[in-house]
Amino acid sequence: MRLRHKPWAKEKIEEHPQYVIPNPEYYHGRWNELFENNNPVHIEVGTGKGRFVTEMARANPDVNYIGIELQESVIVSALDRLIEAELSNVKLLHTNGEDLRTFFAKGDVDRVYLNFSDPWPKKRHEKRRLTFESFLKLYEDVLVDEGEIHFKTDNRGLFEYSLGSFSRYGMLLQYVSLDLHNSEFAGNIMTEYEEKFSAKGQPIYRCEVKYQS
Ligand code: SAM
Repeated sequence: MRLRHKPWAKEKIEEHPQYVIPNPEYYHGRWNELFENNNPVHIEVGTGKGRFVTEMARANPDVNYIGIELQESVIVSALDRLIEAELSNVKLLHTNGEDLRTFFAKGDVDRVYLNFSDPWPKKRHEKRRLTFESFLKLYEDVLVDEGEIHFKTDNRGLFEYSLGSFSRYGMLLQYVSLDLHNSEFAGNIMTEYEEKFSAKGQPIYRCEVKYQS
């Protein structure tokens, strides 16, 4: 993600605590208080400019969405979307996905979305990939039993690596597409990166995997 410095971003984020939750640790084990319902919670780690979580929230009012993004200058664009959308079932966390356990208790999360995660192609950076074993353990620690990860990417190397990583972890592969946009999968919501890469003619890879108890 190309970053443009936005000196006003921090202040804007702080001005909208109803959208970018300033104290997510408070909701550990009680996200239903924030959303004021007991609907399932789906999170996207590395949400970028937030189109996916916003449009998923609009399409699925009975699901609560949380987009997690590390970069201040990027999450502020997601905030703009949320302000415009005026939806009560989508929130943002300006934080590192590595800290999920601080914000979520076991069972707080019903599904994890990983969309166009940074590929970190060098072997020495394997541990940074969001589908590396330590991340799979992290997601398992906050997901419900038999919770799911839905993953899509344009990067064939990352996709192949991730299928191996899911499989080594003992996860169940439920769905795989090597060309999502020419598949029968219905209701796909394109992310910003997905639109960019598919416009260049690149196939989009997608899978759904499930933890086994
Ligand atoms: N999901 C969006 C999309 O498909 O358009 C953005 C994809 S972009 C390539 C990856 C995003 O993940 C970047 O905005 C980056 O800052 C964010 N990211 C990477 N590692 C992260 C982490 N550990 N926690 C939170 N966000 C992270």
